[in-house]
Amino acid sequence: MKQLMQGNTAAARGLYEAGCFFASSYPGTPSTEITEELAKYDEVYCEWAPNEKVAMEAAFGASLAGRRSFCGMKHVGLNVAADPLFTVSYTGINAGMVICVADDAGMHSSQNEQDSRHYARAAKLPMLEPSDSQEALEFFRIAYDISEEFDSPVIVKMCTRIAHSQSLVETGERKEIPARPYEKNIAKYVMMPGNAIKRHPVVEERMRRLAEYAETSPLNRVEEGSDNSTGIITSSTCYQYVKEALGDKYPVLKLGMIWPMPDRMIREFSGHVGRLVIVEELDGFIEEHCRALGLQCEGKSLFGYLGELSQNIIADKLGVPVHSGVKLSESVKIPARPPMMCAGCPHRGIFYALKQAGCTVLGDIGCYTLGAVAPLSAMEMTLCMGASVSALHGFSKAGGKNAVAVIGDSTFMHSGMTGLANIAYNQSAGVVIILDNSITGMTGHQQNPTTGRNIKGDPAGKIDLESLCRAMGFGRVRVVDPYNLKECADALKEELSAGEASVIISRRPCALLKYVKHNPPLKVDAEKCKGCKSCMRIGCPALSMKDGKARVDSTLCVGCGVCKQLCKFGAFIGGE
Ligand code: SF4
Ligand code: SF4
Repeated sequence: MKQLMQGNTAAARGLYEAGCFFASSYPGTPSTEITEELAKYDEVYCEWAPNEKVAMEAAFGASLAGRRSFCGMKHVGLNVAADPLFTVSYTGINAGMVICVADDAGMHSSQNEQDSRHYARAAKLPMLEPSDSQEALEFFRIAYDISEEFDSPVIVKMCTRIAHSQSLVETGERKEIPARPYEKNIAKYVMMPGNAIKRHPVVEERMRRLAEYAETSPLNRVEEGSDNSTGIITSSTCYQYVKEALGDKYPVLKLGMIWPMPDRMIREFSGHVGRLVIVEELDGFIEEHCRALGLQCEGKSLFGYLGELSQNIIADKLGVPVHSGVKLSESVKIPARPPMMCAGCPHRGIFYALKQAGCTVLGDIGCYTLGAVAPLSAMEMTLCMGASVSALHGFSKAGGKNAVAVIGDSTFMHSGMTGLANIAYNQSAGVVIILDNSITGMTGHQQNPTTGRNIKGDPAGKIDLESLCRAMGFGRVRVVDPYNLKECADALKEELSAGEASVIISRRPCALLKYVKHNPPLKVDAEKCKGCKSCMRIGCPALSMKDGKARVDSTLCVGCGVCKQLCKFGAFIGGE
């Protein structure tokens, strides 16, 4: 029976059916649900790792021990894991190892729009690219066979549209794969120069064999069209757009294996069509390869390098009406819904205190990046995971004053600790604020090493942030409640004037966690409210002004009482 399934759910099903035994991932939109869904199968051990590098190395270890393994991450996470990635390409694997990277064209939830296909070419690894949920299931399953046949990790590349769209899926049964025996093999697995030099030709030979496999693999296929004046080469979500835009008008070479590419197949396809058009999002990865083969083609000159494509764009650029007739009217405007911190978000209080203190706030990756949004506008830099702490050190050493780093608990575990070690070791003054909301918030409430729970919500190891910071050599470590504006302001003032590095842990669980008990919503005494709008400066979505008076939306307010602390006229009722 076919089921409607999200791409990530289907990917998890494919991993399960393939006999995956071990999965270690770091959450990152749009990849997170793969590991969450996989954790629902008791036959597969699943965990959240502190970061993507750890996840990939753990997956490699499981493969070495003889079990099919998996690690998943978003595109920027692959940068973190790039170090092991390039060398597992040399060692190869024991049992099959599959790596998922999920790109985010259009930057729905990311700080850049990098095209991860380049990693397959640079690290000399095979990469598959499904174009719907059924393919997601099948490609993850097939990836293990390729991995074991070619002694190579295999990357499966998802993207936001494939990961989060739903389509029909036919599921199968799980194949139980016995453990492969672990065999000591220093020449294969110890990548010191003398051994690595001998492994490089093995990698090149493997890529040659994989390129041969790509020529006949059912992962790549030609679909005939009625008009050979144009031929399209495409993959992934662009394949769906092409079919919606053009139907069966032009022949299509659909690449399911994006690296290595089937050169003979591409040449042959090109020889049967007049104009060769490459439809791909972001970089001209396929296009450049076709040009390197000496083929004349068009791609980026039509579709550009930015954001997502659509059936409309493809039909417009190729000068044909949309085949499916599903052309969105340009006049249909979806109202903008800018992201904002939730009502009662514990980050709001500390950002308000930072703004009042006039600090230069170096930020990080998490829901608290919204501290940069008006009316708080309290964050001035965000680069990548962990960068707030490292950049604070450089900022302070270079003479920057009154600066703080803000970083979430999960991000701190991911890559903030090493920056903090640098501050402790190379001795700079600055205040690092760990925003401990006791969960990985932005990706949808995943556990992390500070929460004391594992991926299934069961008790697990718990790292004590205060002890960790003290063990690193910080004498000034204090905890504040971000719902208490005065406490935050006093702590900031004291630590900024201390003349030495310090850590403030702003601790309050995310207001959306199920176990968090809320106070009744506040009310405004219209007699006392003077309409001064002081309370509006914290930007709580539960607050608005009507007829010159503040108003609380009781369906949103969680009674945190932060707004009440800003009202000089005592107009708020409740929130004690
Ligand atoms: S701060 Fe107090 S007086 Fe001013 S608008 Fe808000 S509720 Fe009214
Ligand atoms: S108490 Fe005030 S700040 Fe807190 S959620 Fe309610 S309206 Fe927002």
